[in-house]
Amino acid sequence: MKGLRQKLLYDSRHIWHPYTSMISPLPCYHVKSASGVSLQLSSGETLIDGMASWWSAIHGYNHPHLNKAAHNQIDKMSHVMFGGITHDPAIDLCKQLLDMTDSNLTKVFLADSGSVAVEVALKMAMQYWHSKGEKQRKRFLTIKHGYHGDTFGAMGICDPVNSMHSIYTGYLPQNLFAEAPHIRFGEQWDEKDISSFKAILERNSKEIAAVVIEPILQGAGGMRMYHPQYLKSVSELCKQHGVLLILDEIATGFGRTGRLFAYEHAGICPDILCLGKALTGGYLTMSAVLTNDDVAETVSSGESGCFMHGPTFMANPLAAAIASASLELVNEGNWKTQVKSIEDVLKLGLNPLSDHPKVQDVRILGGVGVIEMKNPVDMARCQKALIQSGVWLRPFGKLIYTIPPYIVSKSELLKIIDTMGILVDIN
Ligand SMILES: *Cc1c(COP(=O)(O)O)cnc(C)c1O
Repeated sequence: MKGLRQKLLYDSRHIWHPYTSMISPLPCYHVKSASGVSLQLSSGETLIDGMASWWSAIHGYNHPHLNKAAHNQIDKMSHVMFGGITHDPAIDLCKQLLDMTDSNLTKVFLADSGSVAVEVALKMAMQYWHSKGEKQRKRFLTIKHGYHGDTFGAMGICDPVNSMHSIYTGYLPQNLFAEAPHIRFGEQWDEKDISSFKAILERNSKEIAAVVIEPILQGAGGMRMYHPQYLKSVSELCKQHGVLLILDEIATGFGRTGRLFAYEHAGICPDILCLGKALTGGYLTMSAVLTNDDVAETVSSGESGCFMHGPTFMANPLAAAIASASLELVNEGNWKTQVKSIEDVLKLGLNPLSDHPKVQDVRILGGVGVIEMKNPVDMARCQKALIQSGVWLRPFGKLIYTIPPYIVSKSELLKIIDTMGILVDIN
């Protein structure tokens, strides 16, 4: 197929895109290459990427260090099965992950994507209680406005309203949903904020396998940032009631909130930790589930004698080699100053918009800037304005937000901020 128009027409007729209608899709933009923080469109425009390809491309596109890792690895082997076989990319990556996270986390399960990491975490928790003989523990407690992925288990702990649970009534498990935290990051803590969570946990503690929560920042379920004391209390209450704690750091991991992992804001450590998105620097799909000796040993001492999961592409060497190179960049530590200056510039640029009559709220934490509008945005209008301004953003619902690559320059970030202001005006 040759012409651009012909390709786009084919695409719109035959190819699904995320959460996009197959009857009347909005236009898609054809990207021919990407480097640094720029996307080059086949139609000639260059866009500054304010999305880091959904939290993932933290070092920017076409990074020489990551490219080199990919080239080196592909000339050795792109993939080999992981059952009964191991390899350097997996060993190096898992060691890096354990070295950079809390010392209680000692075991790594490599999975295919964020959603699968969540499935793995849920299954691990359930198998843990099965091995312990507490087979009635089959429910999960989470909070409203969460997002944990699109597969069934993950969907069952997503916000019941946002993720349209009603479509799957009778098929999705009946999990428990506490009120989402109201006290924001940086505000004065109030014990009342945890009362809904506490009451539900106390009432159902013998049925709950684990609490699952996004630490500090709730992503696609509403881009909300909450008080670290909430997370600290969640962790204490889990310990008190003997319930496992699963943290979904798929969006927040690797520096995005200003700490290497968001759980560090609360000084806690989960029993199971899910990582994904930025793990490979945005190059390939891969996720990791970390856990402690107790969970790993209990699961392995049960009826099945092992953890019942093993994807075909587990620990894919190409993805693992790139992830390993990405973590080398993370460990160099430039993200700290980069994310801090992104936060400072976002505060100066976005906070004044909180007085705008169409704006409900402005929220900023680390490398995340969010404008919540009073009404849902008009995507068609937004897309046109974005291409005109030379900035790529992907608003959803009432939210106009940016999560740029950490390497974004001040002038590029100011352009992203100006464009967010334009989107506010035209909606
Ligand atoms: C994106 C995301 C997921 C799902 O990851 P996928 O790779 O899209 O399957 C799960 N949890 C959180 C917090 C996420 O942001």
